[in-house]
Parts: sequence; C-alpha cells; structure tokens
Amino acid sequence: MFGFLKGLSVTFSQMTKKKLTLQYPEVRPVWPEHFRGIHEFIPELCIVCNQCARICPTNCISLSGSRDENKKLHIDTYDINFEICILCDLCTEVCPTESILMTDQFELATYSRDDLYKDMHWLYANHVNHGSYNKLQAQKAQAEKEAQEAAAQAAKEEQVATQTATQESGNGNETADRSTKGTAADGSVATKEGGDA
Ligand code: SF4
Ligand code: SF4
Repeated sequence: MFGFLKGLSVTFSQMTKKKLTLQYPEVRPVWPEHFRGIHEFIPELCIVCNQCARICPTNCISLSGSRDENKKLHIDTYDINFEICILCDLCTEVCPTESILMTDQFELATYSRDDLYKDMHWLYANHVNHGSYNKLQAQKAQAEKEAQEAAAQAAKEEQVATQTATQESGNGNETADRSTKGTAADGSVATKEGGDA
C-alpha cells in the first residue's frame, strides 16, 4: 500500500512540471545553432578542391568536376551516401568556401537503402528548403543595396566635385579677365606716360 501511494505521489508531482516531450511531427523541435543535421550543398561556391572527400572518415562523399574554357573548375557531381555518413561535421570544417554545410534537417527515414544515396540536386534542394538559402539571399540583397548606395554616393560626390571645379574655373577666368583689363589699363597709362616722356 505504501509503495502504491509513493508511486502515485511521484506521478502527481510530475503532472505540474513543464512537459519535455513534443507532439511530433505536428510540433517540430528547435535545435541548437550548431546541430549537426543532414547536409546542404551550394554548387556555385564549390571549387572542387576535394578536401571534404579526403577528410571523410567513412568515404561517403564522391564528387567530380571539370574545367570550363577559362580553366576554372566547376562541380559536375556531388554525392553523399547517408547510409554510412556519421554526421561528424569534418567535411564542413575543412571546406574553404562553405559550400557544404550542415542543416537542422534530420528526417531521412526510408524503405530503401538506395534512397539514402543523395546527389547534388537533392543536397541543393535541402539548401533551399532547410538550409542557409534565405540567409544567403538576404545577405546578397543587403550587399547589392550597399553597393548601390555606395555608387549613388560616389556619383553625388563626383557631381559636387565637378560643380566645384567648374565654379573655380569660372572664378579663375573672371580673375584673369580682371587682371587682363588691369594690365590693359596699366598699359594705356604706361603708354600715356611713355607718350608724355
Ligand atoms: S559528416 Fe562526416 S561522415 Fe558525413 S560526409 Fe561529412 S565527413 Fe563524411
Ligand atoms: S571541400 Fe568544399 S569546395 Fe572543396 S570540393 Fe568539398 S564542397 Fe567543394
């Protein structure tokens, strides 16, 4: 009897406490900032240096690239086998351009092992849907806005500088005219003086 009451007391004491469980999938968890979820990939940033594939402890990254007419390397294929990926984050740590990053996406349940082999397009879609796409777009828009503002400011300063230069040149001409007139007057006086002599 005592044990039963003791058990009930524990149950009732827990009923007033804050709930730690979520009604998943309706309510989704908010992960900490450095949560290591499924990767996102941004192809335009990749320089095909192969560092991510080299450091991967499970050899689950395979990639290939080619050079364009300017000898610049572009990524052609980028695949991660999530069947053996251990989400260790090493690939993102070594990537010099941050083209491979980790997201807070964690759902990969599937009926087929083959579905765990994700290609560049899937990883890019993960970038758009669950990754840093919106943040990057906002940064790009902000950078463009700042560049436009800087260009407008530079144009304004140039216009002011041109106006000032024009004004100064006008003043200079006026002074030169006055000085010429003065010389002419002096000259006429001199001529007169010369004539008197
Ligand atoms: S997280 Fe680790 S195991 Fe997964 S692809 Fe990157 S380096 Fe490889
Ligand atoms: S480390 Fe980064 S830049 Fe280099 S191949 Fe991997 S994803 Fe591309």
